[in-house]
Amino acid sequence: MSILVVGSIAFDSVETPFGKVKEVLGGSASYFSIAASFFANVRLVAVVGEDFPQEHLDFFQEKGVDLQGLQRLPGLTFRWEGKYGQNINERQTLSTCLNVFEVFQPEIPEQYRSSQYVFLANIDPDLQLKVLKQVNAPKLTVGDTMNFYIEGNLSGVKESLRAMDIMTINEEEVKQLTGETNLVRAAKKILSFGPKTVIIKRGEYGALMLSRDSIFSVPAYPLETVCDPTGAGDSFAGGFLGYLARNRKCDDKSLRKAVIFGSVMASFCVEDFSLNRLKSLSYSEIEKRFGEFKELTKF
Ligand code: AMP
Repeated sequence: MSILVVGSIAFDSVETPFGKVKEVLGGSASYFSIAASFFANVRLVAVVGEDFPQEHLDFFQEKGVDLQGLQRLPGLTFRWEGKYGQNINERQTLSTCLNVFEVFQPEIPEQYRSSQYVFLANIDPDLQLKVLKQVNAPKLTVGDTMNFYIEGNLSGVKESLRAMDIMTINEEEVKQLTGETNLVRAAKKILSFGPKTVIIKRGEYGALMLSRDSIFSVPAYPLETVCDPTGAGDSFAGGFLGYLARNRKCDDKSLRKAVIFGSVMASFCVEDFSLNRLKSLSYSEIEKRFGEFKELTKF
């Protein structure tokens, strides 16, 4: 099964207590696509500028990501700069330079329009909705958002929420979006906006999935070193939706298993900067960590 993803491709500059990198491959759609590519075919809709190197395109292609929907526009690729302090759960955005992202209008190639699984990664919510208008009745639509859009286009975020079956969002952003400090109350408020399920990503504290009649909580994989948390949320979504697309089922049991695959992919992502760890990852390592997760939560 194929997954259609729309989101950002970026050059990230990141500082964490473990080091500093400048203009490395990043972006919500990049992390999602590579993580999901371990499970299903991925069709990428995004934009890059003239400065985007062939080396990164080759990487996507090696992982089997379909780039027919990737636009290259005159100008520079989107750039984002962030910094993490000793509390690795807290991120400070130092700069966001939209560049070609500012004029991006997603166009869904004809072959992509029947995609059954859609992921609306971090991108302006108006563009998320434009994508949905171009696809024919997907089986499952999962979406994300971030502080940048909650602050800049709140009404758009709420409208795009209505069109999602499942929303993934991080703890800080769900509080910002709902005005609730209690996570269960915040999740219920998100459900009242439209989605059937909400997954709150809690960094080193794991993830919480809530539907009208079900609640599921998982810890994060206990790593000794979290090198760089950037992209963990999108890698989580890649493992989550990748697993669902591969298994073609969305019942409660499958959703729970998908949350574990999401957590596994996020745990690999944070072991190194950029997409470096996902680059060297093998499917047998994913399976092994999935087994370790089972042990971790068995009692
Ligand atoms: P995550 O850590 O999963 O929330 O996502 C991090 C990625 O989001 C980084 O690689 C950034 O390039 C990307 N990003 C940062 N700001 C934005 C934005 N305003 N729109 C879309 N993507 C963004």
